[in-house]
Amino acid sequence: MSQFPGAGPIPPLPSPTDIALSCEDDTLAQALVRENQSLRDQIAHHTQLMQLLTHQLATPLTTLSGSVHLLAEPELDTEQQHEFLTMVQQQIRRLQELLNDLVALQDLETGKLDTQPVSFCLKQLVLETMQDFAPYPAKYHFATEIPDIWGDRWQVSQVLTNLFSNAIKYSPDGHYIEIGATLAQPGWVEVWVKDHGLGIPAADQPHLFQRFYRVKHRDRQHITGTGLGLSLCKLLVENQGGQLSFESTHGQGSRFYFTLPTVDHADR
Ligand code: ADP
Repeated sequence: MSQFPGAGPIPPLPSPTDIALSCEDDTLAQALVRENQSLRDQIAHHTQLMQLLTHQLATPLTTLSGSVHLLAEPELDTEQQHEFLTMVQQQIRRLQELLNDLVALQDLETGKLDTQPVSFCLKQLVLETMQDFAPYPAKYHFATEIPDIWGDRWQVSQVLTNLFSNAIKYSPDGHYIEIGATLAQPGWVEVWVKDHGLGIPAADQPHLFQRFYRVKHRDRQHITGTGLGLSLCKLLVENQGGQLSFESTHGQGSRFYFTLPTVDHADR
């Protein structure tokens, strides 16, 4: 296994009992035990992320290498060449999406993502964002009195794009998608994206916002993705001060909804 240059293997951490036994001061020992446990958790978390990332990279790379290998065959006709080229393009797009999501997640977590909150009209932003999806059938439900929002326009449009793409992706029968907004409580607007597609099995629901988590049910085994979209949406919504949730029934559809502060209530 390759390692980063200069980085040796991580030395084994002392066990919590070793630390407790070697310290006479109880308070110090307890603090060290907690610190030690937190380091162990962080290492376990990073190891798990690396395993998931490796898996996410391996699948498109295997398909890419297979397609490129086949493209080199001299007796391919034009139709076959076209088929393999399309596969290459799809896998390159998949790797680009993975990279974009990872960069955005990292920037958010390290506070590097440039956030520029402004006052904006939500309805206008929704309609602008949805232009990218035309002519996919969508139904709009905007309450009549929606105050302007205080948030980063680009980040909110990313959330809408992700939720709407998921709604389309997990509605294989092409059923229409609904988007709505209402004043949930003073100072907060609730925005929602509802589909009538595959829905989410109850057992998967508690894990949905975990990074790289993908539902493994056979009803979506041919639908590709990175498992990063929802965790990114959650961080982006929280970056505006809001919250993202969902409700779903497997086989019937899902509704993802999030809150955004109105301009008069925003904590600036
Ligand atoms: P990805 O779609 O790339 O797998 P996401 O983080 O966007 O990653 O979603 C995680 C999982 O949640 C998906 O694998 C999918 O099974 C499920 N999911 C997300 N949105 C929907 C939806 N609108 N309907 C049904 N399942 C969904």
